[in-house]
Amino acid sequence: MTSPAPTPAIRIRDLVKTYAGGKQALRGVSLDIPQGSMFGLLGPNGAGKSTMINIMAGLVNKTAGGVEIWGFDIDRDPRNAKASIGIVPQELMFDAFFTPYEVLELQAGLYGVPRSRRRTMEILEAMKLADKAHVYSRTLSGGMKRRLLIAKALIHNPPILVLDEPTAGVDIELRQQLWAYVRQLHAAGTTVVLTTHYLEEAQELCDRIAIINHGQVVANETKASLMAQAHDKVVVVRLDREISSPPACLAGFDARLRDPWHLAVTYDTRRMSAGRVLGALAEAGIGIEEVTTEEADLEDVFLRLTQHQAPGALAAAPESPHGNQ
Ligand code: ADP
Repeated sequence: MTSPAPTPAIRIRDLVKTYAGGKQALRGVSLDIPQGSMFGLLGPNGAGKSTMINIMAGLVNKTAGGVEIWGFDIDRDPRNAKASIGIVPQELMFDAFFTPYEVLELQAGLYGVPRSRRRTMEILEAMKLADKAHVYSRTLSGGMKRRLLIAKALIHNPPILVLDEPTAGVDIELRQQLWAYVRQLHAAGTTVVLTTHYLEEAQELCDRIAIINHGQVVANETKASLMAQAHDKVVVVRLDREISSPPACLAGFDARLRDPWHLAVTYDTRRMSAGRVLGALAEAGIGIEEVTTEEADLEDVFLRLTQHQAPGALAAAPESPHGNQ
């Protein structure tokens, strides 16, 4: 007999959210986030990721369906559900006139952490904020504020940490520091859920990845099995002329223009070869100046799963225009 599967850290069933005004942000999402996983939640802008996280955080009311956090139902046992999760929001919001130490002490108070069990200085040290413990939060740099948000989410020692786009607009050095710390937490047993636009980040960090698109789960697999779908290769052709859309001769192919001179055709290596793509172009009388091939990666799998319903909603978002604030 196999032993029963452990309770998932987060269990979501048939979750629906319709905002006032009629926008259906979640259309029946069911998802298990296993205990101890480093779980990536990916999706193009507007897919419903923040809505999901805000429902878990108790900030948005769901329309239908169920959510259990660490086995606690968010409707029937909201206190325990809330105590089991720490959420790092996207926005940097603090009371400017509190010091990091005070921000954390207040948060600990809100969660009813007794003084004897508070780890305020320990967490500030771990987030490299100990020397800023007693300055006004408004004087912190963007990166420090981001670390303070993580510290705040950890103050009640939750078994689950959720990071909502934690590195949008964060410089590379800080990003690496953040991930090093998140990896440590994960190694120490914390279940980590992160939403990110940076697919390479999910590819590097996460052991399991769910992709949502238009309020529905379109993939939910281990990273390894998602990557195994990357049977595709991309052949990029520099043409002898400018074109404004993929030529008709490639109608049966997954062809996209990178710019008016470069055509990228994704093909499944099990069924197709670059030669067939080039042959089709030659037959149509289109001259080729240069050919390169690229291996597919998570981004290609992601695009394949999301692009048909959401043309133009690319995964690799530009850096936040607001920079590191
Ligand atoms: P993501 O985090 O994946 O970018 P969101 O959950 O923010 O997606 O948004 C999902 C959809 O719900 C989008 O179409 C968005 O415009 C809409 N939406 C989000 N918040 C609200 C709100 N408060 N009122 C109405 N519509 C909303």
